Amino acid sequence: MDAKRTTATEADVRRALAAVIDPDQGKDIVSLGRVSGLVVREGNVGFAIEVEAERGPRLEPLRKAAEAAVMALPGVVSVTAVLTAERAAAPQPAAQPHSHSHGPQQAPAASLMPGVRHVIAVASGKGGVGKSTVAANLALALAAEGHSVGMLDADIYGPSMPRMLGITGRPQSKDGKILEPMQNYGVKAMSIGFLIKEDTPMIWRGPMVIGALEQMMRDVNWGDLDVLVVDMPPGTGDAQLTLAQRVPLAGAVIVSTPQDIALLDARKGLAMFRKVNVPVLGIVENMSTFVCPNCGHESHIFSHGGAKACAAELGVPFLGEIPLDIEIRETSDGGAPITVSNPGSENAERFRDIARKVWAAVEAGKSGRAGPRIVVE
Ligand code: ADP
Repeated sequence: MDAKRTTATEADVRRALAAVIDPDQGKDIVSLGRVSGLVVREGNVGFAIEVEAERGPRLEPLRKAAEAAVMALPGVVSVTAVLTAERAAAPQPAAQPHSHSHGPQQAPAASLMPGVRHVIAVASGKGGVGKSTVAANLALALAAEGHSVGMLDADIYGPSMPRMLGITGRPQSKDGKILEPMQNYGVKAMSIGFLIKEDTPMIWRGPMVIGALEQMMRDVNWGDLDVLVVDMPPGTGDAQLTLAQRVPLAGAVIVSTPQDIALLDARKGLAMFRKVNVPVLGIVENMSTFVCPNCGHESHIFSHGGAKACAAELGVPFLGEIPLDIEIRETSDGGAPITVSNPGSENAERFRDIARKVWAAVEAGKSGRAGPRIVVE
C-alpha cells in the first residue's frame, strides 16, 4: 500500500466505477450516466447510482460491486453508495391535467409503500426547536389513539429516533433485500442513521439523503400502517425541499418555539410546503411556557402565544402548545418519551390532543389531496 498517497481523486473514483457493469444493459455505470452526487473528501467517498425504480430491489449486488470497486482504490477509507430511483422512470398518471404548477412530481404513496395510508412530515424552520421530540411523541400518541404507526427518521443532521424510541441494534433483513423495521412501544421505526454512518461528513448527507430516503420507503417492510410520521431535517434548504417533493406527503406539521415564530423561521417552513403543494396540517408551539420543576410556577420565557397568533394570521390550524418541561427532555432523551412513560400526565394528554387533530386533518384531506389540481389557463 502506498503510504504517501493519502487521498483518491474524483477522477480515480470515476475510473474505478467505469469498470462496474450494469447487469441489464451490459455497459458500465459511468458511461450510462448513472453515477451522480459524487463526493470525495479525505478518502471518504459517497455517490448515488441512478436506476429505474422497478429495478431497484434487484440491484443491491450492483451497489455492492460499485462500493467494492471504489474501496479497492488506494487511499479510500470509506465508501457509501446509494441506489436512487430515476425520476423519469416513474409512471406518469394517464389522465393528469396539464398544469402550470411547478409542484411535486410525486410517486404515489401506493407504489413506494403500498400498505401505508398517510405519510405526514414533522418539520421546523431551524434546528433545536424540539422537532424530533414532538415527532416521537406524536407518533406514540397516534399509536395510543389506536392507530398503527411507523416512524421514519429522515433528519440527516442528527438522526435521533432510535435513541428517543429506546431502540438499539441495527435493522435486519430476512432475504438480504428488504429490511425489517425496528420496533418499540408498538411503533415501527427506521432511521437514516442506519444507512448513513454517523461520521459521514455533513456536506455529503444532502446528496445522499434522497437515495437513502427512497430506500427507507421502498425497501423497508412497513406492512400496513395507518400513518407514517417522517422526522424531517430541520430548515428549509434544497435538501428539505427535494424531500418534501419526493415523499408522498398527506401533510406537514410545523414545530416552532415562540422566538422562532418571531424570527420568521417557521414561516419559511410554511412557505416551503405550500410551494410543493403539501397541505400544512398545523403548527405546534413547543417550549411554550416554562414550568418550574420545584414550585410548578409557570413563566413565559419566550413570550408564548406567538405561534397561535401566527397560525391565525397565516390561516393554518394551531394544533397546540407544549411547555418547556424537564420531564419532556429527560424522558425523550432517555428513550421513553412522556407519552409512554407517563401517559397520565398533562403533557401526554397534550400530545394525544395534537395527535387527534392531526389524524382528523389527514382523514379529512384524504379525498381532497388526490383530486385534480385547478388549472388557470
Ligand atoms: P430538534 O429535532 O428540533 O433539533 P430535539 O427534539 O432534538 O430538537 O430537541 C432538542 C433538545 O430539547 C432535546 O434535548 C430535547 O429533549 C429538548 N426538548 C425538546 N422539547 C422540549 C420541551 N418541550 N421541554 C423540555 N425539553 C425539550
